[in-house]
Amino acid sequence: MSEDDFARDVPPELAGAILTVDLGAIAANWRALRDRHGTDCAGVVKADAYGLGLGPVARVLARAGCRVFCVAMPEEGLRLRRILPDATILVLSGPLPGGEGLFAAHALVPILNSLEQVAAWRAHAPAGAAYGLHVDTGMNRLGLPLADVDALPADFAPGWLLSHLACADEPGHALNAGQLAAFRALRARFPGAVASLANSAGLLLGRDYAFDLGRPGIGVYGGHPCPGHGPNPMAPVVRLDARIVQVRRVDTPQTVGYGASHRCEGGSLLATVAAGYADGLPRTLSNRGRGMLGEQLVPMVGRVSMDLTVFDVTAAGPDLARPGAFITLIGPHHSVDDLAAEAGTIPYEILTALGRRHARRHIGG
Ligand SMILES: *Cc1c(COP(=O)(O)O)cnc(C)c1O
Repeated sequence: MSEDDFARDVPPELAGAILTVDLGAIAANWRALRDRHGTDCAGVVKADAYGLGLGPVARVLARAGCRVFCVAMPEEGLRLRRILPDATILVLSGPLPGGEGLFAAHALVPILNSLEQVAAWRAHAPAGAAYGLHVDTGMNRLGLPLADVDALPADFAPGWLLSHLACADEPGHALNAGQLAAFRALRARFPGAVASLANSAGLLLGRDYAFDLGRPGIGVYGGHPCPGHGPNPMAPVVRLDARIVQVRRVDTPQTVGYGASHRCEGGSLLATVAAGYADGLPRTLSNRGRGMLGEQLVPMVGRVSMDLTVFDVTAAGPDLARPGAFITLIGPHHSVDDLAAEAGTIPYEILTALGRRHARRHIGG
């Protein structure tokens, strides 16, 4: 069994939960987003490829034709450089002070986000080293403020020009058109740069937003880029199965778990699975989350605790609810978007929090 098959050294028969990542679906989603407008797309693999495993994900994207990769932090760029010696690696946070030499030594492309970063890069980077520029067109998070563009040196010529949409997942939001107009004007100013504006949701906004290079993340990993706007167009990527470690029948009305926050009726069947908030299940799923046992949707009852979560499996019955069987938290009938909605969060946060303890299995690569 290769490292790619089980990224964690947890044999599946010992794992409390198994995260299965479909690399074929990742490649198909990336190609679908790239082909949508006939422009190139980067692979956004920050945060360990959204928690799904940098090595296997980066390699399958490279095989699918991806040549440009985005990471958030320099350390992620260094890890990716060892995996893909020839890829173009854009580091979105740019260099931290004093880190410029490391970028050049490992051919990492810094995306410069402030006049300070521009000045430091010009002072310390070797002549000819590639760089990009991120201009903030309305998000007020990361990137050179629009007002500072005029203060850039006259010979400043980034190889990549980036901006990021604040509301791409709300197609009707007025900020989208405003950011698009601002980005068009910028593009005219840096004609030599590869222009890149759209994340996954931005690519769904239409051809106008695609420019030269899309930067899809969540859609590649199977999350719905625009929740609430029709069915998810992306193929599912992740499956999360948590193992039942104990089953009990409760014959009289009693409470479940810390804080006694759930009261079950007499005659209830409860199953405890070996996954909790230390495994990335948000505690906000307490008394709200659901899973599938066989064909049956079963509710979480009581509080999610560190290592354990309890389900009321009365409807599924004792034949299915056995120690060793799995309850599927993310799968064909209960998506990562469903679990995120139940937790009151977004699929990004679910994915990036998963996989600290369970076995991670990559299939379809
Ligand atoms: C994370 C990120 C992306 C990817 O966004 P998704 O919504 O996951 O498609 C693109 N660009 C930047 C700057 C990012 O930080």
